[in-house]
Amino acid sequence: MYPISVYLHIPFCLKRCHYCDFCSTSGRQDAIAQYVHALCLEIEQWVALSAVKLPVHTVYFGGGTPTLLSVKQFEAILSVIFERFDCSSEMEITVEANPGTLSLDYLRDLRKLGINRISLGMQSAHDPELRLLGRIHRYEDVVQAVRWSRLAGFGHLNLDLIYGLPEQKMEAWKHTLEVAVSLSPEHLSLYALSLECGTSLYDWTMRGLVAIPDEDVVAGMYEFAMDYLDTKRYLQYEISNWARATDGYMCQHNLQYWRNFPYVGFGAGAHGFVFGYRLENVSDADEYMRRMDKAVQAELPCSPATDVLQRVDRQMEMEETMMLGLRLTQEGVSQRAFYERFGQTPVMKFGKQLRYLVEVGLLEYAGKNNDCIRLTRRGRLLGNQAFMHFIDTERRIT
Ligand code: SF4
Repeated sequence: MYPISVYLHIPFCLKRCHYCDFCSTSGRQDAIAQYVHALCLEIEQWVALSAVKLPVHTVYFGGGTPTLLSVKQFEAILSVIFERFDCSSEMEITVEANPGTLSLDYLRDLRKLGINRISLGMQSAHDPELRLLGRIHRYEDVVQAVRWSRLAGFGHLNLDLIYGLPEQKMEAWKHTLEVAVSLSPEHLSLYALSLECGTSLYDWTMRGLVAIPDEDVVAGMYEFAMDYLDTKRYLQYEISNWARATDGYMCQHNLQYWRNFPYVGFGAGAHGFVFGYRLENVSDADEYMRRMDKAVQAELPCSPATDVLQRVDRQMEMEETMMLGLRLTQEGVSQRAFYERFGQTPVMKFGKQLRYLVEVGLLEYAGKNNDCIRLTRRGRLLGNQAFMHFIDTERRIT
């Protein structure tokens, strides 16, 4: 059986950032102990329903701010995982960390627990931009966090950056990128700011208090990043992700999503794709804890916290495998692997769409025997326009 991945959601933050609509709550640190208890219970109950000990090769603590958990709380969660799953000795264990919440001793202790990948939410190298985003950290906290992470023994470090910020000029973005590269991360994730309804930033923009750069400027920032990181020997392996080319530090956990392989999510708002179903847990942390507290019986693939359950039939799985796989800018979708999985090639299944997308310059065939179907450089800028061709929307609505 192909190993699965485990995602653990920690929905607590010290303060809500101005652009954030993620599943997280601020000022509720008093609830963390109870939440960790519920999370361990969910893992134990879910695993108990399975007849076999499932193999796991990646674990990811995401949030929220997972680094609000104490070392003991991480230890409690990881011991349940180590005990209940068949864990690979090479397992990648990532923790997302807010640079404003760390200390050297804390990072050393996380490293001792077996956590071997750290993802720092740097976002920008400019303090005024960080303030506008409502981040609790300053740029110097990032420098300190990187230094401490290295001293603690983290050999795989990611920096998250956001571009297209309010009032951001190209020069400021270039400087952020240069500074990020000078910190020598193995991995970089770059995201265009998305204005989400209900956030402070959305409100300020609507009221004309701040201006977001226009689409062309944002596209220019992305193109600059592609060229610049190439000269710095970072390989773009996904639309928004780069790994140092010399040693190929791609994020194995996220590769699992893009290859459309199974993963299970625990915690409030966590998503999963396992045993042929997509699942989503209840997003409210209090409701999540209430459900786990009631100890209601569930049947695989659900847990008592499951809110949404959707069967993924063969047609949907093929569509999603195309859409997700095309995000992988080097690997793309392998025709051979697709055939081995579904008994037909992408050309047999999506011939018309592929012909059109190649014609308009969004997709290309590459590799030995043209086995790989992937986005062109232009396609990376217009990914969503390519992906929508693989979704049978009518069938999904009815
Ligand atoms: S730290 Fe992350 S999850 Fe928390 S409020 Fe800020 S953006 Fe949202």
